Amino acid sequence: AKEQGRNSVRFFDPDMEKKVENRSQLEHDLRQAIDNREFLLFYQKKVNAQEELQGYEALIRWPHPEKNMISPADFIPVAEETGLIIPIGDWVLEQACQTLQQFQQNKDTQHLNLSVNVSVKQFRQADFVPKIIAKINHYNIDSSKLELEITESMLMDNLEDTVTKMKELKTIGLAFSLDDFGTGYSSLSYLKNLPLSTLKVDKSFVRDMLIDKEDAAIVETIIALAKTLKLQVIAEGVEQIEQVDTLKKLGCDLFQGFLYSKPQPLE
Ligand code: C2E
Ligand code: CA
Ligand code: CA
Ligand code: CA
Repeated sequence: AKEQGRNSVRFFDPDMEKKVENRSQLEHDLRQAIDNREFLLFYQKKVNAQEELQGYEALIRWPHPEKNMISPADFIPVAEETGLIIPIGDWVLEQACQTLQQFQQNKDTQHLNLSVNVSVKQFRQADFVPKIIAKINHYNIDSSKLELEITESMLMDNLEDTVTKMKELKTIGLAFSLDDFGTGYSSLSYLKNLPLSTLKVDKSFVRDMLIDKEDAAIVETIIALAKTLKLQVIAEGVEQIEQVDTLKKLGCDLFQGFLYSKPQPLE
């Protein structure tokens, strides 16, 4: 009775039931979205201190047929858990390579780089590296313009596998940035051994940096650390010109946020 009781408590918890229901509905819809090619790739500008366009970050969008736009923050975790991130991630990389090919066919855009978010499960695929190489060859693109955004969770999950693959991809020219930097729990010591090119200051620190001393100190520290390690540093979530002014004084190299553009279709 006790064991049964445990299960039935869960079953009759209406919140829990609803969550499970929503989740399996979402999983079902995600499968359909992959089959029906419902996803879109949006692009958000990255600019340098002279406000020149340096490139874009690619961000996935899912215009759900019945609901509104579903945020990647809501469906990427489910895609990770269900393994659906593999076909979704393949699609994102395919689109990104196509876009880079387009950029590189035009004199005015050939210098632009494109960064793509990569999930842990995606990176762990045994054939992740050959898959990327195949796409780069297929689209005949300059791989130094392709940047992968990884997170601290990827380092904590399996540092050895991550470093091995990063080094392989760096050999063929790819760049790496460490996203959401400062929000994870990992040690700083790995930083010096990673083939990174850029640290990305998380938008939660940028948001309050003008009104919160602690956030300002964290931003300053991250930028100083990046300089010491000879890494580029980009601030995300920039919405105010005053943030840019302060970030520039601290030595921040690149800026991204609604101040410059919302993520939008390539056209
Ligand atoms: P992220 O990689 O940290 O992306 C930055 C998020 O901040 C994006 O949310 C972007 O739209 C938003 N953002 C940009 N500028 C501003 C600003 O000035 N203010 C504010 N408040 N927000 C800003 P988005 O597009 O909803 O993506 C959420 C997360 O979903 C991303 O966080 C990333 O972790 C994940 N994601 C998005 N696209 C992909 C993808 O193609 N593959 C994978 N694996 N994950 C993705
Ligand atoms: Ca990112
Ligand atoms: Ca981020
Ligand atoms: Ca505070």
